[in-house]
Amino acid sequence: MSSEKPTGADDKRFETLSVTYGEEPDLASGVGDVTSPIHLASTYAVEGIDMDTALEDLEPDDGEFLYTRLSNPTRHAVEKRVAALEGGDHAMAFASGTSAIVATLMAAVEPGDHVVAFEDLYGGTNTMLKELFRDKLNVAVDFVDAADPEEVREATTDETAMLWMETPTNPLLRLCDIEEMAAIADDHDALLGVDNTFMGPYFQRPLELGADVVVHSTTKYINGHSDSLGGVTVLSDDDYAQEIGFLQQVGMGNVMAPFDAYMVLRGMKTLPLRMRQHEKNAAEVAAYLESHELVDAVHYPGLESHPQHDLADEQMDGHGGVLSFELAGGLEAVEHFVAALEEFTLAVSLGGVESLIEHPASMTHSPLPAEERAELGITDSLLRASVGVEHPKDLIADLERGFEAMRDATEGEVAEATSDDD
Ligand SMILES: *Cc1c(COP(=O)(O)O)cnc(C)c1O
Repeated sequence: MSSEKPTGADDKRFETLSVTYGEEPDLASGVGDVTSPIHLASTYAVEGIDMDTALEDLEPDDGEFLYTRLSNPTRHAVEKRVAALEGGDHAMAFASGTSAIVATLMAAVEPGDHVVAFEDLYGGTNTMLKELFRDKLNVAVDFVDAADPEEVREATTDETAMLWMETPTNPLLRLCDIEEMAAIADDHDALLGVDNTFMGPYFQRPLELGADVVVHSTTKYINGHSDSLGGVTVLSDDDYAQEIGFLQQVGMGNVMAPFDAYMVLRGMKTLPLRMRQHEKNAAEVAAYLESHELVDAVHYPGLESHPQHDLADEQMDGHGGVLSFELAGGLEAVEHFVAALEEFTLAVSLGGVESLIEHPASMTHSPLPAEERAELGITDSLLRASVGVEHPKDLIADLERGFEAMRDATEGEVAEATSDDD
């Protein structure tokens, strides 16, 4: 299916761009590496004095490198490739997903502006919007349930500078309709930003659906091996790109390091292969969990029981590798379950080739007050899994170990209660 996805860049398909785009061998250098070298130099020799040297050119290309904070060839290769995969004209690579998000938002809003955000956002972005933008920068922020476009429409006014969305969200895998969000933003001359980390450009391309800007934590699927921290912003508007470039290079000096850029270039080569396997495994795990008596609910957009399954099929080319589920039992049952797992490692983060599991209430979403977690539906029995590319049968056998441990613990309690009665 997805192999026929055209992307526009050189009329090449996604798989081809993933492997080679942005890494043309440079025979003129006398070496011709087929992969981009890690350019560690902080500064570059220039030909001579040139009064036209354009320091304000925020996207210097080959031969125009001056200083690595401004532009670096390895980082530049990442930027070119991600722009091609997302279908945007410009990309900037940052030291983390968080720094991509803060620069993208800061370039779009001023004190006194208003932002409408999905209430079910990445925990760090939620805290950033409240404690940096609202409390320090005087930007009003409304959090709404964007799964219902009416709520977004009601919250958006002519003061609104930006709608900030994730779809699917973390950890409940709820969706918002990107085309609807773009229409609402347009009606108020606001921008629509989408954090596309969970699907990656292989499964979802928000710019094609009307978003103005897309960000990723490359730490997750784009790098894909849990061994590099990074972020990117992709967009097509020249002026907005110039503003973000200014913040990246001059306002904050926050750029992806050459070594990480090399890792991300390498990771991206297998992005389509990995995403296909993540999805296949996640679908099997989701179906297994959904039929299990010790599971109360499974949240995965690929399941027909997902309330927005049709929207998922409309706006995404697949359903991704992340799911969450609620165990039948309280915190103690959850503790027994995760302690018994061998393949799923108890850890935050997602998108790597290895399977991870985490407990949002005590880990990723612990900064949110308990009442807020309850309102969002993040219960103490909820677990989020990032399903890796191992054999799905081994993953299911691992989850079965967890359920066994839950059963043993309950039986132990029953036995104890009975013996107490004696
Ligand atoms: C991880 C993540 C981020 C933050 O990225 P870092 O690289 O950790 O700074 C932002 N958004 C989403 C959806 C994420 O999963």
